[in-house]
Amino acid sequence: MSERPFPDEQTFNQSPPFVDVNLFTSDMALQEAVRREAAASAYEDLSAFGALAGSAAALELGRLANEHPPELESFDLRGDRIDHVEFHPAYHQLMAISTAQGLHCSTWEHLLSGTRPKPGAHVARCAGSYMAAQMEAGHCCPITMTHAVVASLRQAPSIAQDLVPKIVSRCYDPSIAPIGEKSAITFGMGMTERQGGTDVRANMTRAEPMDTRGVGKAYAITGHKWFLSAPMSDAFLVLAQAEGGLSCFLLPRYTTDGALNGLKLQRLKDKLGNRSNASAEVEFDRAEGLLVGEEGRGIPTIIDMVTLTRLDCAVSSAGLMRLALARAIHHARHRSVFQRRLIDQPLMVQVLADMALDVEAATALAFRLARAFDGESESDAAYRRLMTPVTKYWVCKTAPSLSYEAMECVGGNGYVEDGGFPRLYREVPVNAIWEGSGNVMCLDVLRVIEREPYSFDKVVAEIETAARAEPRLKEAIARTKSLAQGVRHDQATARTLVELLALTSAASLLARYAPHAVSDAFLATRLQGSWRDTYGAGVAHVDTSAIVARAAPQHS
Ligand SMILES: Cc1cc2nc3c(=O)[nH]c(=O)nc-3n(C[C@H](O)[C@H](O)[C@H](O)COP(=O)(O)OP(=O)(O)OC[C@H]3O[C@@H](n4cnc5c(N)ncnc54)[C@H](O)[C@@H]3O)c2cc1C
Repeated sequence: MSERPFPDEQTFNQSPPFVDVNLFTSDMALQEAVRREAAASAYEDLSAFGALAGSAAALELGRLANEHPPELESFDLRGDRIDHVEFHPAYHQLMAISTAQGLHCSTWEHLLSGTRPKPGAHVARCAGSYMAAQMEAGHCCPITMTHAVVASLRQAPSIAQDLVPKIVSRCYDPSIAPIGEKSAITFGMGMTERQGGTDVRANMTRAEPMDTRGVGKAYAITGHKWFLSAPMSDAFLVLAQAEGGLSCFLLPRYTTDGALNGLKLQRLKDKLGNRSNASAEVEFDRAEGLLVGEEGRGIPTIIDMVTLTRLDCAVSSAGLMRLALARAIHHARHRSVFQRRLIDQPLMVQVLADMALDVEAATALAFRLARAFDGESESDAAYRRLMTPVTKYWVCKTAPSLSYEAMECVGGNGYVEDGGFPRLYREVPVNAIWEGSGNVMCLDVLRVIEREPYSFDKVVAEIETAARAEPRLKEAIARTKSLAQGVRHDQATARTLVELLALTSAASLLARYAPHAVSDAFLATRLQGSWRDTYGAGVAHVDTSAIVARAAPQHS
């Protein structure tokens, strides 16, 4: 029998697995964001969820759900259509965990009791979502859509009255049955067609009026959707062309007569990442749908749902950035190279500190945006309108390059599936692509500047308040204003403007709330000086040790 060269007891200089880490109490920037943005009362609950979401058992569920992706069964033995998607039990357990935490409904619970919204409800929920994405990101898609749909359903009060009580339930019910027989339901969304996802006005799916069914005006929907995520959801909001123009419809899996509705799942996408979540191509064969909102007002009706999903994209990407950074720092603490721990090597600390600055910024931006969804003032509305696309753009676009750099910090093990980095790396680009990709976010910002300049002015005024004591911010604001003027005539500067708005806004938040080492370094490297191509370049003169000490996951 051959001897192993390194019996287990001799394994040394390998970092321990990054598991059983409380994703809340180990994350200083997250805890401060939650306190600052008015959700301090959720601290205990988030702390318990952080322990669960970061536990070895939950992370193992994430691995299993991705290694055993969903499978489509189109027909049963007899050849009858069933259009069933089978998920691994781990996926259902992840859904049950996030549902029990209320990530799909906690901001709407007041609708059942008829009371005022709970202060800080969006911020608290987003903190949960930020951690759920770290536990496993794919299942967050149906959780997000189920949460977001309520904003659009409220435009059809009779439908909302029927369905909201089944959404606002913390019990996950994966059974495949008509809505009336279920204790809880989930939702999906269908806008993208083969010929266009951004340009939904070009949708070709048709809606023909039928007789009135149940609580709403019924239509027969015929056409297709090229991407329909979470196809086992109990119902979907979809866009289709009615006589009055593009309209929004509720498509349940079962018709009001209790028959399987005409949603034919053609195939599941073979995706880069996000593999635990199913995304289907679907044909609608005279599927029964109920009108939501008014005919011809499909986009204004569904946009409330879309806007909330954009918030979640930013929150989830910020969470994934945090996970990548925390794993990199964890490794650097435990791994020695040339007789010194990586965390003590100046060049490595520079890279980690530089990444930490982007994680601080992403967290600050995402939670400031979450607070705007809790507020009811004009300033909150202005912030939501302008900063949803800005935040989604910058956070979701920063996550892939940061994840790659963090993977490199872990060396060869970073590239190996067991460690989890490859899955994280494959996951992150999706948040930038779906729910409005980069250029679309920029065009949305231009629309705000063109049509609602007061929203731009209000947000800039907020940044200016923070800039009083900070000349570097003043200069950035002046540049932002000048770019905003110019962009009216030259779309080509839109990305520059959106990026500058994100950086200036993040810098203003960090200047007010973060430790001096963080805010000073962020201002010096992101708003001044030359363009950086890679992490770790251009931070030679900042207090890298202080930044990394703060970012380091506690107790890991
Ligand atoms: C994993 C996954 C799941 C998805 N799930 C769903 C779902 O459940 N429901 C759903 O409806 N959709 C879903 N989508 C679709 C997604 O929202 C679309 O892919 C996205 O909106 C882009 O649409 P498109 O693919 O048609 O690209 P296009 O619209 O063709 O855009 C291509 C590129 O052109 C850019 N672009 C567009 N217009 C302009 C312009 N005027 N100027 C400059 N650049 C422009 C875009 O930013 C993009 O980068 C999913 C996608 C993925 C990857």
